[in-house]
Amino acid sequence: MSAHTCTSADLDGLASQLEGEFHCHETMRSLYATDASEYQEQPLAMALPRTEGDLAQLVAFARRHGLGLIPRAAGTSLAGQVVGPGSVVDVGRHLNRILAVDAPRRRGRVKPGVVRNELNLALKPYRLFFAPETSTPNRAMIGGMVGNNSCGAN
Ligand SMILES: Cc1cc2nc3c(=O)[nH]c(=O)nc-3n(C[C@H](O)[C@H](O)[C@H](O)COP(=O)(O)OP(=O)(O)OC[C@H]3O[C@@H](n4cnc5c(N)ncnc54)[C@H](O)[C@@H]3O)c2cc1C
Repeated sequence: MSAHTCTSADLDGLASQLEGEFHCHETMRSLYATDASEYQEQPLAMALPRTEGDLAQLVAFARRHGLGLIPRAAGTSLAGQVVGPGSVVDVGRHLNRILAVDAPRRRGRVKPGVVRNELNLALKPYRLFFAPETSTPNRAMIGGMVGNNSCGAN
């Protein structure tokens, strides 16, 4: 158990300030109690942020109350990376846009919830691709790939 200091009134207050969703009820907490690993733990709450402002508020709230914050992309981690007692923050639901592709400089800007294969479909017309090739490329998202330092056979 984490030694957080927040009450249900604090959690309700946070929920009312976000543009995205913030859930503390049993069903959503159970849905986010697992990833692809064998670990299981029900979080205190889970969030579906819509904006960077939502993320900033979630971070500030977690700091203020000593609450763990667990960013979650596709949840295909194998060592319990996205399971824990704090707030699980699902960046895959809403933060999933490709913002810009600068083909000549081989650079792009994406939100963390962009799926690796979908990014490569968008890059195909430019004859470019995002190279790290996990075995889960039709699910794994860029935020999670960076978080795990993901790689593949090549
Ligand atoms: C069958 C199978 C095969 C696999 N094969 C491979 C493989 O070949 N190579 C490989 O590298 N991995 C492999 N994996 C592990 C996993 O699929 C990859 O590491 C994948 O890239 C994780 O992406 P994800 O979107 O699921 O991330 P998640 O599991 O959701 O998150 C991964 C980490 O990133 C953090 N994170 C997520 N979003 C953010 C964010 N916005 N900001 C900061 N941190 C963030 C999370 O907190 C977590 O610590 C495999 C898994 C399975 C189930």
